[in-house]
Amino acid sequence: MSDALLARATDLDAADPLAPFRARFVPTSAVSYLDGNSLGRPLRSTAELIDDFVRGQWGGRLIRGWTDGWLDWPLTLGDRLGAVALGAAAGQTVVADSTTVLLYKLARAAVDARPDRRKVVLDTDNFPTDRYVLEGIAAERGLTLVWIETDPVTGVHPEQVAAAVDSDTALVLFSHVAYRSGWLADVPEINRIAHAAGALTLWDLCHSVGSVPIRLDEWGVDLAVGCSYKYLNGGPGAPAFAYLRRELQGELRQPIQGWMGHRAAFEMGPGYEAAPGARALLSGTPPILAMVPMHANLDMLAEAGIEAVRAKSLLLTDFVLDLADEWLAPLGVEVVSPREPRRRGGHVTLRRAGFEQLLEPLWDSGVIPDYRRPDGLRIGPAPLSTSFTEVYRGLAVLRDLAGKQP
Ligand SMILES: *Cc1c(COP(=O)(O)O)cnc(C)c1O
Repeated sequence: MSDALLARATDLDAADPLAPFRARFVPTSAVSYLDGNSLGRPLRSTAELIDDFVRGQWGGRLIRGWTDGWLDWPLTLGDRLGAVALGAAAGQTVVADSTTVLLYKLARAAVDARPDRRKVVLDTDNFPTDRYVLEGIAAERGLTLVWIETDPVTGVHPEQVAAAVDSDTALVLFSHVAYRSGWLADVPEINRIAHAAGALTLWDLCHSVGSVPIRLDEWGVDLAVGCSYKYLNGGPGAPAFAYLRRELQGELRQPIQGWMGHRAAFEMGPGYEAAPGARALLSGTPPILAMVPMHANLDMLAEAGIEAVRAKSLLLTDFVLDLADEWLAPLGVEVVSPREPRRRGGHVTLRRAGFEQLLEPLWDSGVIPDYRRPDGLRIGPAPLSTSFTEVYRGLAVLRDLAGKQP
C-alpha cells in the first residue's frame, strides 16, 4: 500500500516542471521541511547577494548608497512584487516595516477616511496580530468591532460578510488564506459585498503571497498587506509590503508621519507634507539590508511563474490529503482544511488530541511541520523547495510516531 504511494511520489517528482528549482536552495539537513508557510528556505543566491551587498554596496558605496538607489528600493521592489505576485500595476505597493505595523497604518488610514461610519467587520479566526491591531484602533477611535464567527475548519464566507456589513461599516478586514485552516477566501465576491455597503476592504496576504495567484487591481481590493518571509523566502523578520489602490492615494492618510513619507525628505523642513502616491505609506528609514533577499526571490518567482507554483501547490496538498486519508485517518487524525481545490490555500492542517507532544519527536527525526493550537499540525509544503518524496517521508514519520502514541 505504502509502496504504491511512494511510487506515486516518485512519478509526481519526475513529472514536476518546477523540480529543478529545488537545487537553488541552501541545502538543509532536515529530512522533510513542511513549514514553508511559516518561514521559507533561503536561496543560495541570497547568500551571495548579501555578501556582495555588504562588501560592494554597503562597504564600498557607504552613505552614497542611499542616493545610488536604496532610497527607491521600497517603491521599486514594491512595483516588482506587484507585477510578479500581486496583480498590481506600478505605483501602488511599497516594501516596509512589518505586517503588524502596516496593518495599523492602513487600517487607521481607512477608518479615518470614513469618519461618519463607526464599525469595522472582521472574523474571529483571523491571525492574532490582525485582531489585536484592530482592537487597538477601535479603542483609539471609539469604533465597534463586528466579529464574524468563522468556522475554524473553513473560513469566512460571502454570505456571512453580507449579513455583517451595513451603511455604518467603514472597513472590512480578512485574510486571503486563513492561517489555520488554509481556507482561500473569495476576495472579489467579498469586495463586491463590502463595496455595495460603502465599506473599504483590507486584505492580509501573508499566507497567499507567493503561493496563490493574486489579482489586487482586478479584484477591486482597496488595501492589502503581507509579509515576505513565508512563501517569498525573505528570511526571518524580512520586511512586509502594503498596497494602496491608486484611486485612494491622497485621500487615505496613514498616521505614522515620518520623514521618509514626506514630499521632500531631505529638505528637513517644518511641518509634515505627505509625498504623492505610495511613498506616503513609508515612515522611517527603510530596512535596506533586510530587503536584499527579495531581489533573488522575486527573480525566481518571476521565472517559475505563480500559476505553475499554484498548480504544484495543489498537487502537493492533494498528495498530503491522500497520505492523511490512507495513513492517518485510521489513527484518528482529522483533516481540518478545505478539500475543494478552489477554496484550498497552500497548506493542510491535521488535528488529533496530543499532537503537541509529537512536535519534539518529529523535529528530532528531521521532520519539521508547524504546530497551531489546539492540536493542529500544519503541513505547508512550499512548491519551489519541496518534493513529493519529501512530503511522503515526512508524513511517514508522522504516521509512525502517531501510531505509537497512546
Ligand atoms: C504571518 C502572519 C502575520 C505576521 O505579522 P508580523 O507583523 O510579520 O509578525 C500577520 N498576519 C497573518 C495572516 C500571518 O499569517
